[in-house]
Amino acid sequence: MPTRMNVKPIPGLDDEINDLRLRTAEIINEDVLPVEAKLWAVRDDGSRPGREQIEEAKALRSDIQDKVKRRGLWAPHLPTAFGGMDIGFLRQAYMNEILAYSPGAAALFGVVAPNSGNQKILLKYGTPEQHEKWLIPLTEGRMQSGFSMTEPDQPGSDPRSLQTTARLEGDEWVINGHKWFTSNGFAADFLIVMCRTADESDPEAAGSRMTQIIVPTDAPGLEVVRGVPVWGRSSSHCEIRYNNVRVPKSNQLGGTGTGHAAAQDRLGAGRIYHCMNSIGAMWRAFDLMVERLTTRAVHGGELLEDKQFMQGFIADSYIDIQAARLMTIECANKMEAGGNVRADISAIKVFVPAAFHRVVDRAIQVWGAAGVSGDLPLAGMYTTARTLRLADGPDEVHRILIAKTVLRAYHAGQGWDFGN
Ligand SMILES: Cc1cc2nc3c(=O)[nH]c(=O)nc-3n(C[C@H](O)[C@H](O)[C@H](O)COP(=O)(O)OP(=O)(O)OC[C@H]3O[C@@H](n4cnc5c(N)ncnc54)[C@H](O)[C@@H]3O)c2cc1C
Repeated sequence: MPTRMNVKPIPGLDDEINDLRLRTAEIINEDVLPVEAKLWAVRDDGSRPGREQIEEAKALRSDIQDKVKRRGLWAPHLPTAFGGMDIGFLRQAYMNEILAYSPGAAALFGVVAPNSGNQKILLKYGTPEQHEKWLIPLTEGRMQSGFSMTEPDQPGSDPRSLQTTARLEGDEWVINGHKWFTSNGFAADFLIVMCRTADESDPEAAGSRMTQIIVPTDAPGLEVVRGVPVWGRSSSHCEIRYNNVRVPKSNQLGGTGTGHAAAQDRLGAGRIYHCMNSIGAMWRAFDLMVERLTTRAVHGGELLEDKQFMQGFIADSYIDIQAARLMTIECANKMEAGGNVRADISAIKVFVPAAFHRVVDRAIQVWGAAGVSGDLPLAGMYTTARTLRLADGPDEVHRILIAKTVLRAYHAGQGWDFGN
C-alpha cells in the first residue's frame, strides 16, 4: 500500500493556493500513487520493457492527463492562451511541492523539463512567427525540445566562457561548436543553442556576447554523437556537435547579445521551482522512512521506531525539511513582492539539495537493502539530489555569490538586514 501525502489547508495562506494544493494532492493520492510502479514502464532489473508494458503505461498516463485537464490543473507554467493555467509564479511554486511527491508526476500535469523552460523563454523572447512555428507545437505536445548550453571543454559554471560560435553570413547564422548534457537530445525536434556571437576582443560587446538561437535537429551538420551515460545508465543527455550548421537569422531568440540575460531568466524562478520539487521529494522520502520505522521489527523484537538512533533520523530529517521549506517559501514570497533575492536564491540552491541528499540518505539507511533497490523511489531520488548539487550552478559558485553580495553591503557601510 503506497504512502499518501497528507496535505491540509495552511492557515493564513491565500485560499486559492490552498485549494490548488488540495486538488493537486487529490490526484497524486487517488490516481498517481496507486499505479506509480506501472506509470513509466521502467523495469526494476534495468531490462527493456515489453510492448504490453509500454502500452499499459501510456494508457495510464493518458487517463491521468485527461483528468488533470478536466480538473483545470494542466500546464501551470503557461498562459491560458497557450492551454495553461496562468497561475503565476507563487502558486506554481506551491503546486510543485505537491507534484514532486511522486517522481515524474509533473509530466502528468504538462510540466516536462526541458520543454517547460524552453516554453517560458519562447514566450518571453519569441516573435509571433516563432510562437507559431515552435512554441504552439511544443505546448500541444507535437514537438519536443532541448536546451544546449554546456560544453565538455569549458566550465559550465561560467557561461561567459562558452566557445560555440554563431557567425552571421548574409541572412543566416552559421554555428560551430561542441556541447554535451543537452537533455532530451534524442527526442528533440529543435534545440535552443547558446552561441557566442561577439568576439572576446570586442570591448563594445562586454556582457552581451551570447545569443540563443533555435536550431532544428534535422539541420545539416548537427550531429548527435551519443547519450552521455549518467549514474551508470544510458541517458538522453546528449553530446552534440555543430559543424557549420546554418539556420535563418530569424531563428535567433530576442536581440543579438541577450543570450546570457535569457539564461538567467530561465534559472532565477527555475531554481525556486526546483527547490520546491526537492521539498516534495523529501516529504515522500520522510513518509517512506517513517512507514518503515513503524513496521520493521529488529533485534529483540523491538520496532525500529523504538531505537534512539532511528528517532534521531526522524528529528534530523524533520529539521532539514522544515528549514528547506521555510527558506524556499520565504525566498518565493520575497521574489513575488519584487525584492532582491540574489543571495536568497543562491542560499536555497546550496541548502535544499544538500538537505534533500541527507533526508534521502537516512531513508535509504532505514530501509536497508530495499532502500537501494528498484522497488522504491529512494535510489532515484538519491542520484537526483546529488546531481542537483552541481547542476544549475554548482554549490561553490553560489556560496561565492552569497559572500560577495553580503560583503558588498558591508563595504557600502551597511550591515546585512536578515528581515528583508
Ligand atoms: C543530469 C544533468 C542534466 C543536465 N542538463 C543540461 C541541459 O539540458 N542543458 C545544458 O546546457 N546543460 C545541462 N547540464 C549541465 C550542467 O548545467 C552543468 O554540469 C553545470 O552547469 C556545471 O558545469 P560543468 O559540468 O562544466 O562543471 P564545471 O564548471 O567544470 O565545474 C566543476 C566543479 O568545479 C567547482 N567550481 C566551478 N567553479 C568554481 C569556482 N568559481 N570556485 C570554486 N569552485 C568552482 C565546483 O565544485 C564544480 O562542481 C546537465 C547536467 C546534468 C548532470
